[in-house]
Amino acid sequence: RHDVIALDFKHLNDMQLKAVMTTEGPLLLLAGAGSGKTTVLINRIANLLKYGRGADTTEVPDFVTEQDLQFLEHYAKNPTPEGSGRALSLCAVEPVEPWRMIAITFTNKAADELKARLERVLGEGANDVWAMTFHSACVRILRRDIDRLGFDRSFTIYDSSDSQSLMKRILKELDMDDKTYPPRTLLGYISRAKDEMISAESFYESADKSGDIRRRHIGRAYLEYSNRMKASNALDFDDLILFTVRLLQEHEDVLEYYQRRFRYVLIDEYQDTNNLQYLLASLLAGGHENICVVGDDDQSIYKFRGATIENILSFESNYKNARVIRLEQNYRSTGYILSAANDVIKNNQGRKGKKLWTEKENGEKLTLHVAHDEREEASFVTSRIIADLAAGDKWSDHAVLYRLNAQSNALEYAFKRSGVPYRIIGGTRFFDRAEIKDMLAYLCVVVNPSDDLRLMRIINNPPRGIGQVTLDAVEALAARTGQPVFEVLKESEAYEDLRKAAPKLHQFVNLITDLQSAAAEAPLDGFYDTLIERTGYVKVLEAKATDENLTRIENVQELKSNIVNFLREMPEGTLFDFLNEIALYTDIDQYDKNADSVVMMTMHSAKGLEFDTVFIVGAEEGIFPGVRSIGEAEEMEEERRLCYVAMTRARKKLYFTAARQRMIFGRTTAGRTSRFVDEVSSENIEKPEAVSAPVGYIFDDGEASEKHETASRSFSRVYRAERQDYKKRDLKPITPPGAAAAPVPAYNKGDVVNHKAFGRGLITDVQPAGGDALIEVAFDSVGTKRLMAKSASAYMQ
Ligand code: ATP
Ligand code: MG
Repeated sequence: RHDVIALDFKHLNDMQLKAVMTTEGPLLLLAGAGSGKTTVLINRIANLLKYGRGADTTEVPDFVTEQDLQFLEHYAKNPTPEGSGRALSLCAVEPVEPWRMIAITFTNKAADELKARLERVLGEGANDVWAMTFHSACVRILRRDIDRLGFDRSFTIYDSSDSQSLMKRILKELDMDDKTYPPRTLLGYISRAKDEMISAESFYESADKSGDIRRRHIGRAYLEYSNRMKASNALDFDDLILFTVRLLQEHEDVLEYYQRRFRYVLIDEYQDTNNLQYLLASLLAGGHENICVVGDDDQSIYKFRGATIENILSFESNYKNARVIRLEQNYRSTGYILSAANDVIKNNQGRKGKKLWTEKENGEKLTLHVAHDEREEASFVTSRIIADLAAGDKWSDHAVLYRLNAQSNALEYAFKRSGVPYRIIGGTRFFDRAEIKDMLAYLCVVVNPSDDLRLMRIINNPPRGIGQVTLDAVEALAARTGQPVFEVLKESEAYEDLRKAAPKLHQFVNLITDLQSAAAEAPLDGFYDTLIERTGYVKVLEAKATDENLTRIENVQELKSNIVNFLREMPEGTLFDFLNEIALYTDIDQYDKNADSVVMMTMHSAKGLEFDTVFIVGAEEGIFPGVRSIGEAEEMEEERRLCYVAMTRARKKLYFTAARQRMIFGRTTAGRTSRFVDEVSSENIEKPEAVSAPVGYIFDDGEASEKHETASRSFSRVYRAERQDYKKRDLKPITPPGAAAAPVPAYNKGDVVNHKAFGRGLITDVQPAGGDALIEVAFDSVGTKRLMAKSASAYMQ
């Protein structure tokens, strides 16, 4: 029993320690941002794995003396860091096996961090802890038993854009207008119905009875969607959780298996669980009720996804023996930042109310910068970041947070021109690019040929001379005979409508079956090469080597690095395993903390993360708070919580920036500075003297914004859109006032420059580019960079 005290909890404060030691029974850790909730969760698992039950449990082993008991009794009421060592050694009798733990977080990134930290404390054993997202946990559970619900265990997973394509196709077939019934809206209804566990059949039935035509249409779409998913043996993200809940509810032996297996259930960011996730957690913890949830009611930001704050507020009434521990000390942010965040959140009515404090010094006040337009805003952010670099900070100490993905547009542009390395989380997901979806579709079809949606995506891609008429006929036949498309293709000559195209269809079938045997023989990376070659995908792109196609080829090849990295982690990994992992990639996963670059993301994605310097851009009425929340009390409170989340990501320095006019979604809008900035007490923030008077805002909603959001998903598209923006304005790029007319700085090949952030460099090339020049500089420290002369000149001597 004496391998104790390799782990100590000296760095924890008393309340944190108490939370770590309270191992048995339901526990709610309700605490503000940066107070160490996630830290406690990690230490709690480590404690259980290393020492077992905590010091405040009633059972004490028999080697414990009377004196020890007295100490323990006292300690249970007043745990102190100093006493923790002795208490632990007395109670370290029953380390919990790692596989008895399930720790659920919301992002894969958080789950990875959890695993990494546990590994540091516990070594290999940590791998057996189920530390993962709700979705990954459900995939594991379903892979084992989903056949009980009539699905095949090799089901594929549809992400939201897969679901949208499927829905679009369904609308076409049902003759429903996608303007009246936008696919995204329909999927929203379906998602909500699933969250309430309303099946497609009962949804349709009640819609039918109601006589409401619109509801009936929605019901039909839902019904068709479910049938199609079932036929393709596919599950969407909501299904993963819904089916797991159903599996556990309907099959007692399965429920018992997991309840017995998981003696401890832990959930981070509990304020963002929706009804299904709540049900799942309750089911898993049902027997022993050793459930620990941590969260912050002020950080609940997913109401639109069905998250209900009730889950956290009613924890005490759901679990009779629940203990509640609150933490009030913030360890993340300096005084001004924390005080400003409190200034904002206190304007919300519906909250439990708590005030954080910090021992840290006040630090620097917040800064508000009001720019002329979004370009000047972007160059302000750029210049501040470069100045920080010159002062010794790293790129990755900086995060730029925005409300809408489309806002990244102007920032990316400025960063590119000035050579600032950045990564975007969300918005331009690598895996959302068409060519990557194509390659993944091939891989999926090889594993599961019944995946109709993906099969239809690639059947004539690259072109194989299979025409639309044939494709429509194939789909119609599949629908009529109730078979997967692949089966129809196999027997194509048996169908009148397909006889002519049969040879081509057969070639495609052969391609897939050949690939299936290749996949069975070769290791995954080698197989991927075979796939590229046999499908002819890259060859077609090479034949027309436009810039765009070259980028696509690069991306197709880039996917191989994912495979190679994956194999490094999992040397025996199969194609099936790889697809599993990829399907669950959420945006946040591309954020690699080790690569030094500025991080850009929406405020929603920033949950749980922290950075030295944070820029909250677009702090304007109509953008943030968004136009939809203005005049809607509840929505406004949710926006304010989002603001609180964003502000509390900052450790040392927080900027708000706003633009007097902004080009977004293809329109120019003008808005006054955000009310959230006004709510920050003037003692905590530096503001420019005169902030422009309100001009009111024009804002386009719905369709156009949706289009723009999708458009901003790809780099190249962003740049194309930007160029069009220029055309719409006055045929020249809008730059900060004064800069537009500035002459191009006279750089010559062979010049030596000194850049604030990159240091010394030699100019190796100068090319005219529009009204500017593209220069190539070989820097001593960071290698060669291509910069736009005008932007770069501000930082170079
Ligand atoms: P959020 O609400 O944003 O998710 P959180 O409550 O989960 O925040 P953590 O991320 O666990 O907070 O901790 C915030 C920061 O404070 C981290 O950098 C963590 O290392 C540090 N921290 C937590 N507890 C302590 C402590 N007792 N002493 C010193 N630093 C601490
Ligand atoms: Mg946290």
